Amino acid sequence: MLPRRTPLAAIAAAAGLALIAPTAAHADTFTPGTAGLGDPYFPNAGNGGYDVAHYDLALRFDPKTRHLSATATITATATQGLSRFNLDYSGPKIKKVEVNGKKAAYKRKGQELVVTPQSGLPSGEKFTVKVAYAGKPRAINDKALGKEGWINTKDGAVVLSQPDGARSWFPANDNPTDKATFTFTVSTPVGLTVLANGEPKNPGIASVRNGWSTVKWEMSQPMATYLAMVAIGKFKVTESTVNGMLNLTAYDPSVAKKSKYLHRTTSKVVAWGEKVFGDYPFSSTGGIGDKVNVQYALETQGRPVYDGGPTDDLEIVHELAHQWFGNSVGLRSWKDIWLNEGFASYAEWLYVEQHGGPKAEKTFARLYKNKNEFWKVKTGDPGMKNMFDWDAIYQRGAMTLHALRKKIGDETFFSLVKTWAERNRHTTVITRDFIDLAEELSGQDLDPLFDAWLYSSKKPAL
Ligand SMILES: [Zn+2]
Repeated sequence: MLPRRTPLAAIAAAAGLALIAPTAAHADTFTPGTAGLGDPYFPNAGNGGYDVAHYDLALRFDPKTRHLSATATITATATQGLSRFNLDYSGPKIKKVEVNGKKAAYKRKGQELVVTPQSGLPSGEKFTVKVAYAGKPRAINDKALGKEGWINTKDGAVVLSQPDGARSWFPANDNPTDKATFTFTVSTPVGLTVLANGEPKNPGIASVRNGWSTVKWEMSQPMATYLAMVAIGKFKVTESTVNGMLNLTAYDPSVAKKSKYLHRTTSKVVAWGEKVFGDYPFSSTGGIGDKVNVQYALETQGRPVYDGGPTDDLEIVHELAHQWFGNSVGLRSWKDIWLNEGFASYAEWLYVEQHGGPKAEKTFARLYKNKNEFWKVKTGDPGMKNMFDWDAIYQRGAMTLHALRKKIGDETFFSLVKTWAERNRHTTVITRDFIDLAEELSGQDLDPLFDAWLYSSKKPAL
């Protein structure tokens, strides 16, 4: 969620000033919300002037024609008096836009949808935006970042939107700081399965009409827009519980072989994660194996997607570790992506170490032998094109955590990891927050260590 501003009256009171009460008619001035939130890597993603609480996405998709018709109903609160505001959107043709039930004017400008309501939206007040749209959604292809967003598959579609693909299938405040809850109501031709984040509602019963069936899914914990996921197709679904929570996994029969252990491993890893990282942050878990042809897995909230089925157990460990680190403890800025990937990668090292494999120290020592190129990209500010750099973000990110562990000792390190997940549950953070907490718990000055590991283009001294 966006941070709330201190009301003017509170600032005035603190300064010993009396505010002259504004007359009702002039209580608000209405100005346009900004088109972006100024993220250093994605300055146009996200929008200013409001904070979304809930996305209600009603989708109707036919895999045969690849046609989607949809209505997105967004509930938000204005954080300034708004004369107009933007949503990030590059999906199919818009049919209608309404604000608070009244027709609103709109304009599309690149990836921005600019909405002008009939009257200004007062600061602090709730409003709803309804956008109806239809057509053929398309994936976003970025040279540096690959394929993301709405991706059609042989028998349906899968959505994978990190870092900025949400706009390909729904109008969004597409910045990780504005988390919201989600409802998905999805209609498809009978015989297909629909999966999404969270839990299925009306369990087991899809409403069927004229050859179409409709199911509903609900994500009740705050979620960043890039983690929203829908998967449509033919799936084999398995359900059980782990630590009292639903584990729902599914795979496309074409990836059955590689998905053989998906369900069992997911349960095992979630139980392990709760021991090492503390309580699992969401009300259900799971995973999906499908043929998406993107060559990656993504930690879509509560239910990661594995392209082609999981490569191995460690890929499952990685994506599930993201549920704590990345999804619950989210990013305030994309340049801190190491906080997601370094933790998820280090979780793999820990899992190996705690299941009879080589110690994390051994992996660290092997990687530490790397020369020149390996150390070039700064882990703590890699630049947009390098934000998923394997060496700098995943490996050196994990090494940073191991170097920290060596410096502060196992006891403090493991308490830090749990405290970090617990204190920042369902919020967003920056690297400085992590350094501050590490210093607080260890009583050590850790700036030199983090400077060397995160912000230098040289191999850090040991
Ligand atoms: Zn990852």
